Amino acid sequence: MAGSFFRFAPSPNGRLHLGHAYSALFTAQQAKDHGAQFLVRIEDIDRARCKPEFAEQALADLEWLGLDWPQPVRHQSRHMHDYTVIIDRLERLGLLYPCFCTRAKLSKAPGPKDPDGTTVYPGYCRLMTKMERNRRMTAGEPYALRLDMAKAIVAAGPDLSFYESGCGPDGETGIVTCTPQAWGDVVLARKDIATSYHIAVVHDDAIQQITHITRGIDLFHATAIHRVLQSILELPAPAYIHHRLIPDDTGRKLSKSARDRSLAALREDGVTPEMIREQFGF
Ligand code: GLU
Repeated sequence: MAGSFFRFAPSPNGRLHLGHAYSALFTAQQAKDHGAQFLVRIEDIDRARCKPEFAEQALADLEWLGLDWPQPVRHQSRHMHDYTVIIDRLERLGLLYPCFCTRAKLSKAPGPKDPDGTTVYPGYCRLMTKMERNRRMTAGEPYALRLDMAKAIVAAGPDLSFYESGCGPDGETGIVTCTPQAWGDVVLARKDIATSYHIAVVHDDAIQQITHITRGIDLFHATAIHRVLQSILELPAPAYIHHRLIPDDTGRKLSKSARDRSLAALREDGVTPEMIREQFGF
């Protein structure tokens, strides 16, 4: 199908703040500039942290900002089966292995850090014998599924790159060569939710025919993981436009923590959508 699609994809694990408003308005503006459709998607696979009332509030906040989008809105929690199918496919390709490591064990692991500053998984469970694996699985020990990144890179094929028309943290723009090995064996199915952001996002971007991905620069490096998965799963490669993050008063990036001012709170204080648009130049 012809046409371009952009999406704003919040995770409803708290109330939206100014950083989300910027990202949503940026995305809608980009969609308009490209003569494309703007979509909203609710990324709520983490059912312990995401609440339906936050999702409802997020949609109300976006409407209040003056945005509109086609219905129905895709809620990832309603499509968990899709993600299971992908996990199964990767498993059949021999690219996943169970990891029984606990958070406590991993917090003490030595070695280099990934782009998010977490220690790259040292591969303890990758080296486990089949017998030991089966024994622990049969015993009902909880496990995550990790991507064997070295194998995945081979499966994805050579010269993996993406097109960035925004900018990465080190000024990366244009054709960016991916270095997914920097992430090591990432978790693709969590112990608690049987999928992960990486799986859900690449699947949904493909199924919603997203041609341009606009999002915060904090996700720039994760694009390498997404490109590996897109290549293995034979999904189209979207273009990427990473944007700046909006700092709070102290210069930190805004988070959904209680101290940050939500859009709902700003609205109650008399802030208008026009004021927000003007602040960001949209
Ligand atoms: N759901 C993610 C977030 O709220 C955004 C994911 C994306 O745009 O790729 O941070």
